[in-house]
Amino acid sequence: MTPFEFLLPYSLEEALSLLDAEDPDIRPVGGGTAVMLMMKAGVLRPTRLVSLQKIGEQHSAVTVGGDGELILGGMARLADIERHPAVREKWPLLSQALRGVANPRVRAVATIGGNLSHADPHMDMPPVLAALEARIIVTGPKGSRTVIAEDLCTGYYETVIRRDELITEIHIPPQSGPGAYLKMTTRAVHDWPALGLAVVLKMVGGQFDQASIFVGAATDRPTRLRHAQAALKQNGLEESAKRAAAEAAVAEAQLMGDGHGSAAYKSQLLKVALPRAIETALRNGRSHT
Ligand SMILES: Cc1cc2nc3c(=O)[nH]c(=O)nc-3n(C[C@H](O)[C@H](O)[C@H](O)COP(=O)(O)OP(=O)(O)OC[C@H]3O[C@@H](n4cnc5c(N)ncnc54)[C@H](O)[C@@H]3O)c2cc1C
Repeated sequence: MTPFEFLLPYSLEEALSLLDAEDPDIRPVGGGTAVMLMMKAGVLRPTRLVSLQKIGEQHSAVTVGGDGELILGGMARLADIERHPAVREKWPLLSQALRGVANPRVRAVATIGGNLSHADPHMDMPPVLAALEARIIVTGPKGSRTVIAEDLCTGYYETVIRRDELITEIHIPPQSGPGAYLKMTTRAVHDWPALGLAVVLKMVGGQFDQASIFVGAATDRPTRLRHAQAALKQNGLEESAKRAAAEAAVAEAQLMGDGHGSAAYKSQLLKVALPRAIETALRNGRSHT
């Protein structure tokens, strides 16, 4: 293994000062679960790792703001978010989806900042946070900026985050209606998804108004299914509307084959998953009220 520095800064400012916009071999480390795998596989040979473990407890906090938004520190661990009583009560889609990410050992150390920055297209959380209309606060040497979760990933392992920036917070508005995340795996349930589908049904006065639908894992980034959304907006949630939305989803999504299945197989998965996700969301809504 090539020797590298492992630095442990004690503040966000110090951590930022140790990153370098021009150097891809200098990396921040959250939980380290993805960094270590990449190093073992030889695809990452860092010269410097900047651990975020000691930058301050406030960066690991899970809180509800005065305006009712959920605020996750960039270093909040997946297990702490999943188990937080406010998340379970008011953002059930988030806690449900988190329970299916990897396994308890990974969730106990992995951070939400590391999870979102990694940008493997098979990650479960990016489509879920996009459907929940989350905003990601990214901090760099010149201050902070906001990235809409939908715009975070730009391709295979690529995001809009610069090398000298860190994800410091995620803001999630109140869940606007019942939701579901369907993780379609080809082996064990906790495996990486062949296709992930996040659906939030927005209700107005108790009636369905519109849906927010994102597909992941079968595309190179989480992708909003606009035509499927439009089909539901126009026709409601009748059986025929759900089937029409599924047909629209298959026609519009640029699905890609990989080790978890061919593009043709994934398109069959999508066709089955969309009506099922809507039904699951409605069932979740009934059991939650
Ligand atoms: C056995 C196993 C099974 C898995 N299965 C699944 C699965 O089913 N579904 C799924 O979604 N994921 C799965 N994963 C992936 C897992 O979710 C990620 O490894 C984890 O979320 C990454 O978080 P981390 O804090 O450990 O990131 P790290 O490994 O610390 O970092 C990951 C990347 O993000 C960068 N980074 C870290 N923190 C920040 C920050 N705050 N700001 C900017 N950049 C940062 C790092 O430089 C690195 O490039 C699995 C992982 C393992 C090991």
